[in-house]
Amino acid sequence: MSANSPPGICNGDVPLERGVSPNPIETMGSRIQDSDVDSIRRYLAQKLGFYEPIKPTTPVEKVLNEVNLDGVVKWIKSERCQNVITLSGAGISTSAGIPDFRSPETGLYHNLQKYNLPEPQAIFEINFFRQNPKPFFTLAKELFPGKFKPTVSHYFIRLLHEKGILLRHYTQNIDTLERGAGIPEDKIVEAHGTFYTSHCLECQKEYSLEFIKERIFTDQIPICTACPGVVKPDIVFFGESLPERFQMCLQADFQKCDMLIIMGSSLEVQPFASLIDMVPDWCPRLLINREKAGLKSPLLRIWGLAGGGLQLEEEAGRDVAWLGDCDDGCLVVADKLGWGVSVSFKR
Ligand SMILES: [Zn+2]
Repeated sequence: MSANSPPGICNGDVPLERGVSPNPIETMGSRIQDSDVDSIRRYLAQKLGFYEPIKPTTPVEKVLNEVNLDGVVKWIKSERCQNVITLSGAGISTSAGIPDFRSPETGLYHNLQKYNLPEPQAIFEINFFRQNPKPFFTLAKELFPGKFKPTVSHYFIRLLHEKGILLRHYTQNIDTLERGAGIPEDKIVEAHGTFYTSHCLECQKEYSLEFIKERIFTDQIPICTACPGVVKPDIVFFGESLPERFQMCLQADFQKCDMLIIMGSSLEVQPFASLIDMVPDWCPRLLINREKAGLKSPLLRIWGLAGGGLQLEEEAGRDVAWLGDCDDGCLVVADKLGWGVSVSFKR
């Protein structure tokens, strides 16, 4: 995959791949398998001589003079770093008290047993919701935006904006804490949607946060005022398309990116996880997370195939990981940038 291709769209693919690849934006949770299958298919096609092998690439410029946090900080402070993209997951909101629903111990799925669901993720499946919206709205009351405050990590992203270098913040979170931290709406892409607006499932009439909040907090299922349809917050359920804005922004943003900061995401959900491979080949990437994430699959690595992933080995000269709680990582980076006081003050 070329550095500037949208996830799942591989330049130079053999024709047999055309017309069978699903739209990467259409489904969540399917792309990891698809990209592996594509790479294996490409490998076999190469072995069988179906098409030209991948040409050796020209050496990639290494822009970090030290492959560690200090090197990243120097790069961010430099004139050449003007377009920072932040990618965030649940880890930037856990210190706000929002449970990470993928974590088995403290996670949301674990707490869903009381709703008697066929399986935990049914609560976020559009077909299940159409039949039985009650469990979702019961859960939504617990998680409703406004009950939580933005974290140090959110304010760190706002600082990047105030320093004039934030190109865009892509979030998997639906908690609206980015908006709460004062990051302007046009700088945010809520890849998995948002509670901020809602729509009637039948006639598409739009509703405000206030409308839905009033009903959720009085234990009513929000019903459209123009028709009998259920009103659903614009968060992306399994089985729904990702927002158009996500697709539109990523086409333009990632090729301009000169620093990618991945915060509090285990990069397991697609297509969001593939975004790390859409920046230019030389663009440094900083991971701030509890554990390493986004590494290239070992199978692809053995075969030397494209497939992306973070290159955390020092000799790769490109990517850096800071392992620990996201807020702590942001404070360390902010301190090194000389912005630490601002983050603490805003908090
Ligand atoms: Zn309606």
